[in-house]
Amino acid sequence: MKILVINAGSSSLKYQLFNTESGAILAKGLCERIGIPGGHVKHTPAGKDTYEEDFAMESHADGIRRVIELMTTGSTAVISSMSEIDAVGHRVLHGGAEFSGSVLVTPEVKDAIKRCIPLGPLHNPANLTGILACEEAMGDIPQVAVFDTAFHQTMPDYAFMYAIPYEYYEKYAIRKYGFHGTSHRYVSAKAAEFLGKKPEELKVVTCHLGNGSSICAVDGGKCVDTSMGLTPLEGLPMGTRSGNLDPAVLEFVMKNEGITDISEMLTILNKKSGVLALSGISSDFRDLFAARDQGSERAKLALDCFTYSIKKYIGSYAAAMGGVDCVVFTAGVGENNASIRSDAVKGLEFMGIKIDEAKNNTRGTVDITAADGKVKVLVIPTDEEFVIASDTEEIVKAL
Ligand code: AMP
Repeated sequence: MKILVINAGSSSLKYQLFNTESGAILAKGLCERIGIPGGHVKHTPAGKDTYEEDFAMESHADGIRRVIELMTTGSTAVISSMSEIDAVGHRVLHGGAEFSGSVLVTPEVKDAIKRCIPLGPLHNPANLTGILACEEAMGDIPQVAVFDTAFHQTMPDYAFMYAIPYEYYEKYAIRKYGFHGTSHRYVSAKAAEFLGKKPEELKVVTCHLGNGSSICAVDGGKCVDTSMGLTPLEGLPMGTRSGNLDPAVLEFVMKNEGITDISEMLTILNKKSGVLALSGISSDFRDLFAARDQGSERAKLALDCFTYSIKKYIGSYAAAMGGVDCVVFTAGVGENNASIRSDAVKGLEFMGIKIDEAKNNTRGTVDITAADGKVKVLVIPTDEEFVIASDTEEIVKAL
């Protein structure tokens, strides 16, 4: 089967075209800076050089339309026509209480994704736009939604419940859901494979550190706790999201700043907080490292808050699982930045977590454990697209 995987983020759109029979990726690419100046498209047909262009995109639909053109025409083509594609798999952020696994997109599923927009305000609208844009361009091709929340459905109640009036859970299903499930599922399985163990034999803490970040406790191959909550706002401080804070801060800020609309406050917490707010410089970790190296105290503070929070989650999840065999770093920051990894585990030697700095400075899937480290520390590039393609194939084959 040829499956197009779409991962539409808040201002980006990643795609991969898989041939599932051969396991080959026929093309992959990225549309960046959608809806903001400086739009850019990178398209890599298998075995050829990356084609790059500046291309202004007002919406994700503009991005998808351009990707389809690049895949089917001229020197960047990898298929002769759109009809060669059997199905499309989409990453969808929030499945609420409605989805505990991947599903075929139907009008009801689209409605459910729409209903979940308040829970995933940065991503669900983009995910839905991706689905609608493919429908428009590709007709009635089967589409599958793979939810970031699904992997976390195995959490026990004491991990996912909030200690607020129980009726809110009964009436509105307010609870922790967790996100990045596709990534945590993939890297925890890869870690077991890399270590030559069965997933059931391992207690793993997976650290997905990117623009959005979350940490997951995976015991015996199943998620038992994770740092994000009802929405992706909970947990670590992120690019623009606050992460954990005392809920009373909201009332205090709203009173003093004359903010009367709670959605304005939530926009501040989702889009104007995190390392962007702490540093006053940028939400992009590359910018923060550059600024810190030039002496910015605020950039240093932002990075220190980030790594301190990672460290606390690793410790607490080891406690939650009664031990830890392996810590995995993945995603944009986790895969690429040795300094974040090093700072995040500094001080955890008492738990047997110790990394080798020389190994830490290499790339790819790598074991960075120090010779005397008791807990394996791995860097594993995430591959959410692969998982989405596999789920899509399974669902479409069963139609
Ligand atoms: P993601 O959300 O997984 O795509 O990750 C995006 C984040 O990864 C951005 O903040 C990037 O600045 C960051 N990132 C990518 N490469 C590097 C790198 N070499 N060093 C530090 N951060 C990086």
